[in-house]
Amino acid sequence: MPTYLLTGAAGFIGSHTCVALLEAGHEVVAIDNFANSHADVYERVEQITGRSVKHYDFDVRDRSQLAAVFGRHQIDGVIHFAGLKAVGESVERPWEYYEVNLGSTMTLISVMREQDCFNLVFSSSATVYGESKILPIPESAPLSASNPYGRSKLIIEDMLRDLSSSDNRWHIALLRYFNPVGAHPSGLIGEDPKGRPNNLFPVITQVIDGRLPELQIFGDDYDTPDGTGVRDYIHVCDLAGGHLAAVENLGGLGGAHAINLGSGNGHSVREVLEQFQAVLGRSLPHCYVARRPGDAASCYADASRAAELWSWRTTKTLQEMVEDSCRWGGFLK
Ligand code: NAD
Ligand code: UDP
Repeated sequence: MPTYLLTGAAGFIGSHTCVALLEAGHEVVAIDNFANSHADVYERVEQITGRSVKHYDFDVRDRSQLAAVFGRHQIDGVIHFAGLKAVGESVERPWEYYEVNLGSTMTLISVMREQDCFNLVFSSSATVYGESKILPIPESAPLSASNPYGRSKLIIEDMLRDLSSSDNRWHIALLRYFNPVGAHPSGLIGEDPKGRPNNLFPVITQVIDGRLPELQIFGDDYDTPDGTGVRDYIHVCDLAGGHLAAVENLGGLGGAHAINLGSGNGHSVREVLEQFQAVLGRSLPHCYVARRPGDAASCYADASRAAELWSWRTTKTLQEMVEDSCRWGGFLK
């Protein structure tokens, strides 16, 4: 069975992808420095899958430790999740974002080249589309960045495209995620943001447990069916399945290819709030405030490329995303 190395494996998407790979029978080698996660995640992954996780706890930028991991294991491919991801923080501390996001990718690529490993799946983001005028958004849409986080993803995509044009041994999937939410249905792993969250689902879960007094809905005058912002929410287990499909089929991709991972459908802030209220059987405090600067009215994927390439499509509904988030938060048995 192939062995895959996951950087940032203890994080939100990495941990669910560990589960998907182990359940598919693959071997997983995990690296994380717990900058935004906790070591006990691996025990939880082992509890879910009944398989053990070989893990190494260091910064991916530590070149000698990274090379030693490649020396110890025959790595068939790498999924590179490790990085910093908070947009607001990236505006305040841009250099840290470039050091970690670009630095980790550059160290990883140079070690992979030395070790003759040319199969890579990279965590990109729909943020590289900026404020797209085309909906649903295809991979061919124009790219732009409006903050250092988004720019770091765009620069890495460009670096990986240049690399693969210069050397045809590379097989690279640039996975552009839309809005990952939800948690594993076991309630054992999920998203655990440090500090005050900015994303809709973690904000709502903090309103449920009283850490935040109310949900502020950013704008009710968008050109959308109910006036609130529309996004393509994707259940993290579906997203993990997308990584499994990508890494298992990398051989069929010559060069670097961008592939959207989304459902292809949008849900408004109101719809999400109403789904939480329906699942919990109670209303949640909320109010309408001004639009958040930089927010697009609507953003959802043209998800046809992943379907054509890998027969991959999402299966989970908004109700399941909300129920699993509530179970992870301890609000639902
Ligand atoms: P996360 O913060 O939960 O996971 C990232 C993991 O990387 C964390 O466990 C962190 O400790 C680790 N890490 C950070 N820097 C590291 C370093 N230098 N060395 C080793 N480990 C390091 O985030 P996530 O939501 O799981 O996101 C994973 C990837 O997907 C990130 O690259 C992120 O930018 C990208 N992404 C996330 C979203 C989202 O909404 N969650 C959307 C699009 C793209
Ligand atoms: N949103 C909101 N209140 C919040 C957080 C988010 O109304 O406290 C809205 C936001 O304006 C957007 C949607 O919820 O329309 C999703 O926001 P999120 O930050 O989760 O994703 P992104 O905008 O980065 O795609």
